[in-house]
Amino acid sequence: MRLVTFRAADGAARSGAVVDDRVIDLAAASGGALPSDMVAFIEAGPTALARARDVLHGRPAGLPLSSVTLLAPIPRPRRNVFCLGLNYRAHAAEATQFGVAQKDPEFPIFFTKPPSTVVGPDAAIEVNTNVTREVDWEVELTVVIGPGGSDIARGAALEHVFGYTIANDVSARDLQFRHGGQWFKGKGLDTFCPLGPWIVTADEIPDPSALDVILRVNGVEKQHSNTSKLIFDIPTTIASLSEGLTLEPGDLILTGTPEGVGFARKPPEFLKDGDVVECEVTGIGVLRNPVRTRGGR
Ligand code: ZN
Repeated sequence: MRLVTFRAADGAARSGAVVDDRVIDLAAASGGALPSDMVAFIEAGPTALARARDVLHGRPAGLPLSSVTLLAPIPRPRRNVFCLGLNYRAHAAEATQFGVAQKDPEFPIFFTKPPSTVVGPDAAIEVNTNVTREVDWEVELTVVIGPGGSDIARGAALEHVFGYTIANDVSARDLQFRHGGQWFKGKGLDTFCPLGPWIVTADEIPDPSALDVILRVNGVEKQHSNTSKLIFDIPTTIASLSEGLTLEPGDLILTGTPEGVGFARKPPEFLKDGDVVECEVTGIGVLRNPVRTRGGR
């Protein structure tokens, strides 16, 4: 199932399922049995998924996908988005030249982005040029946690995955390097986590370690790799992150970006006003966002 959050005619955010080119309002089509909030839907577990499948089986009328505004599938996560740094060897290598990399990290490198970074498909990546002049792209396969838990065994980790989506871990490199090389400030600005266009449920992606991960700027390919090249795969990541830290339904884990980011290019490339960034993961779809700049400098 492809699950979205969209803005209904009354302005409210609703959860929906995309079938062909139509969006079914799950709460409405189920007579109110299904929640209109995506995290509540995820929390409701297999019962809600089964109910949603039943609802779709009845071929309910929907809205044309092209007529609705999609929001991020989880428009406002309940807490920070979890991220991995340097989780593709070729990206760790390209970053080494700037002294930010640890070659072949022994354990996953975690950081987070605040919920206020999240925006949906087609929403602008807002760049205030008084704050940063070096905004970069990072396409990442993103895990959506279903059943929560702590100390999750590697072998049971995929049972905790609700589904998958795509994120762009937008990064202000000047802030990243200025603030001691830590990642929170440069990656934590408003609109710096485009997310979507939808969540594909885990049953439709039986092998998340074989997905192409691609990013284009204005139609020109900048990144192209495959999740088979993740240093720490998804089960290892979930096992490590959940050690002594309870994962909750709706938590998001960005799995890291491959090589081809802008700051490591020669000469370096950064996003500018009017650029359009497309993040693609095979089996999920394409997340497209324009860049809009403001500011005096
Ligand atoms: Zn990243």
